[in-house]
Amino acid sequence: MKHALGCAVLFLIASAGGADAAGRCGDHPWCDTSLDAETRAGLLLEALTPDERISLLAGDDLFGVGGQAGSHTGTSNGVPRVDLPTIYYTDGPMGVRSGMATAMPAPLGLAATWDPALATRYGATVGNEAKSKGNDVVFAPTVNIMRTPLGGRTFEGYGEDPWLAGRMAVGWIEGAQSEGVIANVKHFAANNQEGMGPAPQGVPLGVGVLGDRYTVNAVVDERTLREIYLPAFEAAVNEANVGSIMCSYNRLNGQYACENEHLLETILRYDWGFAGYVLSDYGAAHANGTAASLNDGLDFEPWPGMCYSPLQVELALAASLASPATIDEHVRRILRTLFAYGAFDRDAYPYDDGLIDQVGHAAVAAEVEEAAITLLQNDGRVLPLDLEDPDLRSIAVIGADADAFQSRGGSAGIRPFFYDTPLQVIRSRAGAHGVTVSYADGSDQTAAASTAAAADVVLVFVADISGEGADKPCMAIDCGFFPPRSQDALIDAVATANPNTIVVLDAGAPVLMPWRASVRAILAAWIPGESVGTAIADVVFGRNANGDAVDPGGRLPVTFPQSDADIPTAGDPEKYPGVAENVYYKEGVLVGYRWYDANGIEPAFAFGHGLSYTDFAYSGLAATPAPSGGAAVDFAVANVGARPGSDVAQVYVGFPTVAGLVQPPKALKGFHKVALAAGASVPVHLELDARAFAYWDIAANDWRVAPGCYQILLGRSSRDIVATASLPLGGGTCP
Ligand code: BGC
Repeated sequence: MKHALGCAVLFLIASAGGADAAGRCGDHPWCDTSLDAETRAGLLLEALTPDERISLLAGDDLFGVGGQAGSHTGTSNGVPRVDLPTIYYTDGPMGVRSGMATAMPAPLGLAATWDPALATRYGATVGNEAKSKGNDVVFAPTVNIMRTPLGGRTFEGYGEDPWLAGRMAVGWIEGAQSEGVIANVKHFAANNQEGMGPAPQGVPLGVGVLGDRYTVNAVVDERTLREIYLPAFEAAVNEANVGSIMCSYNRLNGQYACENEHLLETILRYDWGFAGYVLSDYGAAHANGTAASLNDGLDFEPWPGMCYSPLQVELALAASLASPATIDEHVRRILRTLFAYGAFDRDAYPYDDGLIDQVGHAAVAAEVEEAAITLLQNDGRVLPLDLEDPDLRSIAVIGADADAFQSRGGSAGIRPFFYDTPLQVIRSRAGAHGVTVSYADGSDQTAAASTAAAADVVLVFVADISGEGADKPCMAIDCGFFPPRSQDALIDAVATANPNTIVVLDAGAPVLMPWRASVRAILAAWIPGESVGTAIADVVFGRNANGDAVDPGGRLPVTFPQSDADIPTAGDPEKYPGVAENVYYKEGVLVGYRWYDANGIEPAFAFGHGLSYTDFAYSGLAATPAPSGGAAVDFAVANVGARPGSDVAQVYVGFPTVAGLVQPPKALKGFHKVALAAGASVPVHLELDARAFAYWDIAANDWRVAPGCYQILLGRSSRDIVATASLPLGGGTCP
């Protein structure tokens, strides 16, 4: 819908207060809280000199980006003369990058929970810590779609599906902003790779922050942009009322994102009605692009101040390349947002780690991780391990990652307040039941195999590596490590020594599992955060420390392919990593499972897949057209197994044929996560709006529901559809 309601929502927040001057605003006309944010911003703007206005366009701290305790990722000094406060910025999407913080599971793991309510708690946890560390704005969430699993920042986003990513983004932002900080959704837009190839041989992933990610040009058609790469941003703006958005490093269809009028003005401001402000990624605004950024929608350059330095802006004005009115508009947007989100009407947040409920936040990290851990395979129901079983006398734990904390490199990297490890918690839980736990770090495969052979069951822990600044060279789990690792060979050796081998995979992206047929079970734990030990032990034993039943809650937010050659960007350098700075998004809307479905490629593990320790049945699927142009979908979910557990019922839409239009065989448009006791069932009612059935019509420059017969596909994953209903929409009929 064009001209969305974002502005109206934003202004209402401000007018809810009383008329008293409050907080750090001072005693000025713009401090009257009975006025709306727009009016207050206008009054303050008038009080600023031209130089002061210009000074607000760029950040003021060249050195504060390193993540040290007490520091911020960015600072805007404000204008003390008129009590305009200093505004502080921090990373990031899996915790606050400033000294030590609660290390949450990776956002990709959050997406694996398929639980927007958990996303809200996650966002609130990070938002609370951002506030407790003196920040007004948090650079998160990252909502870029995984176009290729080789992308170095795959762990930092919400996977390959726009609907799932949007639900997570909305939850996260609502949680963070409920804590009184402004969220900054990033990186806008089509920022789907870290460079035009992997890091040079021998350079460990996660340390490089330079490269051609600054120049790469994503060539994307408008329909693909609207249907795949933009919906999570759109939901952030129109549903979560996000206060700010970060434009990305890359060019989009020839124009840098931070000087891209189509993106920042036409789509963001005009089509979506965004009323907040746009800031640039670090180094994404260009010294030679001052006029272009001023005229095409960039409001603030937090760092390093090369594009919007006072000198650069003065030069652009002097050369009549930009107008004072344009400067005013950028400043107005920044101020209006600060007023709307209450930044003037409260005191500055102090930097005080003592304000953080570290134990409570560790519990949220554990809860998210338990809901994220995805049981990919469980032959003969080897999991959960029953510590009361007299046949279970010994467990071998193999792999250094069983006794380590995992993070990833770059601006999402976190130093945890504390962490437990799987080895510690498994030892203590098993020990209490008289079950022996042996350990080998895996550095010596022969030793690991003999440790494995001597145990009743083996848990082997492996991890991938990735980070900001470089893509992965390939999808093997060992890819990119320096010094090299041989974890595939370790798993082979262990599985040969003991048939009861269970793999725990700490991965920030889909990886290849050539050994999957020779192991009994596989748990994808993603990048598990600081409560890794508790969460993994709870899931492995199917019980928490209090004895309550625990189920692996995760479902895949990404497809795990069988081979590198199967991924949507394989086999054509123009698609990936790109040629002569250009990356052509030739697969169009066929991203993720849409690609595998359309091309009949069998994945190793399908999008949406994940097993429970119990069994669920679906019944009574009914789909009815709704007056909105969408549909109501009803069905029931029953736990027909013997244990309590959680399930994610997934609703995909199948589209009618439209001449000349490539449609994915199915697209996720709704889901519902439930926790049910054994024998319990629950009715589920989902409303799908008209957009769920629409495609972006390039000629009409709008969404359009083609007349025809649509399929509603209810399933446990994108490849396990258990019921189908037909639905005539858009004036069409069903046979
Ligand atoms: C990253 C952003 C991050 C910024 C500040 C950039 O390199 O792309 O995601 O917020 O640095 O650390």
